[in-house]
Formats: sequence, structure tokens, C-alpha cells
Amino acid sequence: MAPNLHPLLNHGITPGSPSFPGGTLACHCPSDPVEVTLGSDVSHNHACGCSRCWKPSGALFSVVAVIPRDKLSVTANPGKLAIVDESAAIQRHACTGCGVHMFGRIEKEEHPFKGLDFVHVELSPQKGWQAPQFAAFVSSIIEQGFDPSGMDEVRQKLKGLGLEPYDALSPPLMDAIATWTAKKAGKL
Ligand SMILES: [Zn+2]
Ligand SMILES: [Zn+2]
Repeated sequence: MAPNLHPLLNHGITPGSPSFPGGTLACHCPSDPVEVTLGSDVSHNHACGCSRCWKPSGALFSVVAVIPRDKLSVTANPGKLAIVDESAAIQRHACTGCGVHMFGRIEKEEHPFKGLDFVHVELSPQKGWQAPQFAAFVSSIIEQGFDPSGMDEVRQKLKGLGLEPYDALSPPLMDAIATWTAKKAGKL
């Protein structure tokens, strides 16, 4: 049986549209869903194997992207949201009704990605969002119980989709983190 990467990845990737203006996200509640409105397209959209990102049921990866926080607003049922783990660097705001993570926000003053929110565009009824670009934290799926002997197949499948598999973030994002750290330390 082929590994269930993610519903947006299992049958090939749909390309995004270059001038996509943004749209809405809705949680899975059948009534009174939480709605989040995004005022632009996302960037750095990727598959993520970490244990913290929200994944649809049975999927090995999440699909998660970033957007500037000033482009994100909660436009319906904000009272249903609660932070999953207040101590985490990324504060994931989840719906208390259905468990879906609507957005992750960095509140720490000192963080390389401060100012960016993390979102899952599969929650959107609109089509045209930036397509996934790479796969991050691939080896982390083993920590969540995936049989390590299946990793070759998972990495091959990701590569076949055009998603380079990394065991951290992509080189541009790792470089951004290192640049932020070097500037803070006065090395750059
Ligand atoms: Zn919900
Ligand atoms: Zn993740």
C-alpha cells in the first residue's frame, strides 16, 4: 500500500496561479465554522513531517505555508479558538470544536520568523494557492511511529512530486535562520 503522504500530495500536485489574491480558510465544524481570511497568497508552502503541525487524519505530512500576520484576520467564530500549547515557539490556534489548527503565530519578540503566521491552505474552498515547494522534517515521521524501512519509498515519492525532501527546513529558510542568528550575535 502506498504511503498516505497527504490528500493534496497523493495524486499529484495542482500548480498555483501566479496572481492569486488570497481567500478564506474554514475549520471542519459542520456548523458555525471558524473562518480565517487571508489577504494575499501564501509563501514557502511545504509538506512538513514534524509532530506539531496539524495533519488531516491518517496523513504522514501536514501541508503548511506562511503569510505576513497583518494579512491574516479571523472573520467568523473567533470564540471557538484556543492555543494548543502556550509554551511552544509557534502558538497554534486550534478550533475547540473540531481540533483543526487555523493558524500558528509567533509571539516571541526574538524569533527569525516573527511577523509570519503559519496556515494550511487545504482548509480553503478557493483554488490557486501556491503549491507545495519542498518537504521539511521528513525523518520526523519515524518519531511518530512510521516504519523506518519505508523511508526510501516516502523520499522517492516526494521527489517524484518535485518536492525535495529535507530533514530540517529548506536551505533558503535554514539560511534565513542562520542569518538572523549571526546578525543577533554581531557576526554579520
Ligand atoms: Zn471547528
Ligand atoms: Zn511541522
